[in-house]
Amino acid sequence: MKRALFPGSFDPLTLGHYDIIKRGVTLFDEIIVAIGVNADKNYMFTLEERKKFIEAAFADEPKVKVATYKGLTVDFCMEIGVNFILRGLRNPADFEFEKAIAHTNRDLAPIETVFLLTSASTSYIASSIVRDVIRNNGDYTKLVPNNVRVKTTNK
Ligand code: ADP
Repeated sequence: MKRALFPGSFDPLTLGHYDIIKRGVTLFDEIIVAIGVNADKNYMFTLEERKKFIEAAFADEPKVKVATYKGLTVDFCMEIGVNFILRGLRNPADFEFEKAIAHTNRDLAPIETVFLLTSASTSYIASSIVRDVIRNNGDYTKLVPNNVRVKTTNK
């Protein structure tokens, strides 16, 4: 069984993430969307909220699982016996950043990183921009799956 880990912050899940996961499902038997917990980062959404957004968005897709992890992504892959990491690429900046991480990960563990190019319609979407739109009371609903909705306390 081919399983891939799709790691990220998902603060919050966007249509860009959604597109990569949906397409990943056609390549792998199981996609584990893994929310990395970094104690030094300030998130807009709690871990529980981020997890619920992903679970709800893929409630009808049994091949998608959600997990949370601390520490190195490759260590978590080894722990749960996953051989592939899935990542999305939007632009040259993503490529340079992801290249360094993928090479480093390969030095650390026998895990292949598989990249999917963003779809044209979601290529400009980033969680950081979604958070900015939310903070400034803009219409963020076009950028995220239907179930990703904000409580006023998140602003
Ligand atoms: P990180 O904090 O690791 O960057 P993110 O939650 O921002 O986590 O992103 C997780 C993954 O989703 C990354 O591989 C990122 O490149 C990809 N991604 C984010 N937005 C998009 C998008 N609009 N199109 C394609 N891939 C995307």
